[in-house]
Amino acid sequence: MSDCIFCKLANGEIPTETAYENDYVRVIADANPANVGHLLVITKKHTANMTELDEETAAEVMKAVRKTVIAMKTALKPDGINVIQNNGEAAGQTVMHFHMHVIPRYYGDGILPTWRQLHPEQVETHAAVAAIAAALQEQK
Ligand SMILES: [Zn+2]
Repeated sequence: MSDCIFCKLANGEIPTETAYENDYVRVIADANPANVGHLLVITKKHTANMTELDEETAAEVMKAVRKTVIAMKTALKPDGINVIQNNGEAAGQTVMHFHMHVIPRYYGDGILPTWRQLHPEQVETHAAVAAIAAALQEQK
C-alpha cells in the first residue's frame, strides 16, 4: 500500500534503525519505545492484522520474533521480555499494518498495565470456547 508508513519502513523507503531483515520481515526500533531497545517485527508484505496474515508469513514472523527475543536477551540482559501483538483499534492497534512488539522489561519499570482477572463464576467460558472451537474446525 503506497500510503502505508509501515510498508515504507519495512521496505527501506524510509530509513530505520534495523536490527535484522530477511525476505519476510524487517526488525526495527519502535519510534516511540516503551523501553530502550523496544523493537518491532514488521512484515514486508502489507497485511493489516493477524486475520489477514498468510500461514507461510505467520511462520516466518514467529521465527524472526524468536531470534529477536534470544538476541535481545543476550545483548541487553533484561529481566524479562514482552512479545505483544494488537489486532484492531479496540485492542490498541494504532498502525493497520501487521507488527509485533518485542519489549525488554526490567523489574520496577512499570511500563505495562495488567488486565483485570474475572472470576470463573462471572463469565460464561464454555460457550465462547465452543464457538471458537467450531470456527477452528471450519478453517482448512
Ligand atoms: Zn503497509
